[in-house]
Amino acid sequence: MAALSQLLAHLYTMTLVFFTILILELVIFIRSITDAIYDSGRDKNRPITTKQYLKLIDEKNPVTWFKNTTMTTSTCAVCLCTFEEGEEVRELIKCNHIFHKDCLDTWLQQDSATCPLCRSKVLPEEIVMKFRQHRNGQQTEYEGSDEELIFLLSALHGNYMRRFL
Ligand SMILES: [Zn+2]
Ligand SMILES: [Zn+2]
Repeated sequence: MAALSQLLAHLYTMTLVFFTILILELVIFIRSITDAIYDSGRDKNRPITTKQYLKLIDEKNPVTWFKNTTMTTSTCAVCLCTFEEGEEVRELIKCNHIFHKDCLDTWLQQDSATCPLCRSKVLPEEIVMKFRQHRNGQQTEYEGSDEELIFLLSALHGNYMRRFL
């Protein structure tokens, strides 16, 4: 009889340990799934930084060096300067318009991502939207820290005043 109760106690402990491990495994499994979902969602809505944005422009419209003999355009429509032999230029793949690399990159960051001459789209709309999100985000972050600074200053000021009152 004693042996049986010992066996039952042993079985009970074993079952307990088994279920504890099972629950732990389950928790880890569920967490990995929710993490994966969260990550993919975050990736989808994550704003595009300036660096990533310029890289996307660069991938689609590579930089070349201006050659008088092969290129038909002679002036950059952004700065209105004449191209010089060997200057870094970017040719837009869709419309073949040529601009200085720096002029075009600045233009594309300020304006909507369209060709300064013919307004054809350089990047897909959703990429431009995400880049704007990033820029707006930077602005709100700045405003936030400004408010914090004002709060901190007023708090310090309050303390300072209290000492004298
Ligand atoms: Zn230019
Ligand atoms: Zn164009």
